[in-house]
Amino acid sequence: MTEKDTARLKELEQIVIGCFAQTLMTDAAEISPDADFFDDLGGDSLDSLDVATQLEEKLGLSLPEEEFAKCRKAAEAAALLLKLEQGGVPEQAAEPEKKEKVEPITRVCDMEEYKVFLGRVASFEETGNPYFLCNDSPLRDTSLHEGREILNFSSYNYAGMSGRPETIRAAQEAAAHYGCSASASRLLGGEKPIHKQLEAAIAAWKHTEDAVVLVGGHSTNVTFVGNFCGAKDLILYDVLAHNSVHEGTRLSDAESRPFPHNNYEALESILRQCRDRYEKVLIVVEGVYSMDGDIAPIPEYVRIKKKYGCFLMVDEAHSSCVLGATGGGVDEYFGLDGHDIDIKMGTLSKGLGTCGGYLAGDHDLVEYLRYNLPGFVFSVGISPPLAAATMEAIRLLQEDPSIMASLHRNIRVFREEAKKRHLNTCLAGETAVLPILVGGDEEAYLLSTKLLEKGVFAPSAVYPAVPRGKARLRFCVISEHTPEQIVFALDTLVETAKELGIRLPE
Ligand code: PMP
Repeated sequence: MTEKDTARLKELEQIVIGCFAQTLMTDAAEISPDADFFDDLGGDSLDSLDVATQLEEKLGLSLPEEEFAKCRKAAEAAALLLKLEQGGVPEQAAEPEKKEKVEPITRVCDMEEYKVFLGRVASFEETGNPYFLCNDSPLRDTSLHEGREILNFSSYNYAGMSGRPETIRAAQEAAAHYGCSASASRLLGGEKPIHKQLEAAIAAWKHTEDAVVLVGGHSTNVTFVGNFCGAKDLILYDVLAHNSVHEGTRLSDAESRPFPHNNYEALESILRQCRDRYEKVLIVVEGVYSMDGDIAPIPEYVRIKKKYGCFLMVDEAHSSCVLGATGGGVDEYFGLDGHDIDIKMGTLSKGLGTCGGYLAGDHDLVEYLRYNLPGFVFSVGISPPLAAATMEAIRLLQEDPSIMASLHRNIRVFREEAKKRHLNTCLAGETAVLPILVGGDEEAYLLSTKLLEKGVFAPSAVYPAVPRGKARLRFCVISEHTPEQIVFALDTLVETAKELGIRLPE
């Protein structure tokens, strides 16, 4: 290797290390060229895709996926980059040798993944099991846990619709009239008048021409993202998009790639380079991200999708019933035109207080989905009591602006009170997800457990849901909370952290 090559290799190493650091939110100075991205630095395959996207952008080249996947260290990635820069075509990976014979697995306890799972469960013995906390009541400002009332900050019941007398009554009446199940796919006999009424109500509320409702939020994303695009198409999605979006991209025949979180410039740069190689391009982002509570730069995505001729899908799970005077979501918040976003996806399980998912958009798209979307066609219609309760929730939101006003007041109070106590709320903005940064996973578990003992529940979010060292307690405020409850929760948090000797980062 010439001296010039050696110098360039070193430069590339530093560029790769910079990308590792940005993705993993750590200090580049602490990363050695021989640190293993996965084992030593705690990256995962999504992080690795993010690094690839950054490198392609920075260096203006296209990384061969298989070759890049083999590079676990900055030094290895730099060697590949140098080869590419010098016009070298990376050798095609040899077909993995087919094993002659493998040991059959016939019991779950012999599965490698099950053994890993057992290891995780064993770790709960030290910290206590943070999962499956059981409540014997709806999750409103308070809930009933092990026979006592606790202050609850764990629910997505943002507008207090689950457990509200009006929605319960609507569900009861619909159950009495139609039964508890639609009992068939709507296409083939399960259709009830309430289904169409609900879809019209959602479309009006979301400022679209039409909407279709499915039985689950997660499955709505998987089936739409998994089927809307085909082999000639491309899906570009924010790397922090929900698991259901990632699952959908894996199901789809389309090419797909993530872009760095909220980085619309990176998205635009990908489109500039390759829009003309695909028929349809679907951009998938969320309105509000649930781990940090940050609002996506939707107007930028609208500009980009118009400029490059793409379809824009916004998952409004955490923006509907939170943003806007009637909880209409991102277009109400940003003052967008009803047609600016092609597909507004949302869940019924959060602010609307029931269960299911919807896709709202132009009539031609929605009507096409009604006859073609596997998750709709081959699945039962939403149950009538849920449809009725959801319709009632939308009616209440539209008719009573005080619901969103209380939620917005609570969000403001939480942020102000957290600031007064020098607590770090990560990227939280004007949304109901308000994380408090703790740091280590163990500390976050412990703090959450001790807080619960004192009657306040806020679940911990730990790696891999958030980057290593960035564990947090996720407080979700809802319209039903009072400012006094919020102040009490934050005081108890600070006091408990002090008792446990945990220094909360500012
Ligand atoms: N999208 C996002 C952004 C979510 O946070 C969730 C659930 N947490 C879903 C989709 C899936 O919705 P559901 O829980 O209603 O299935």
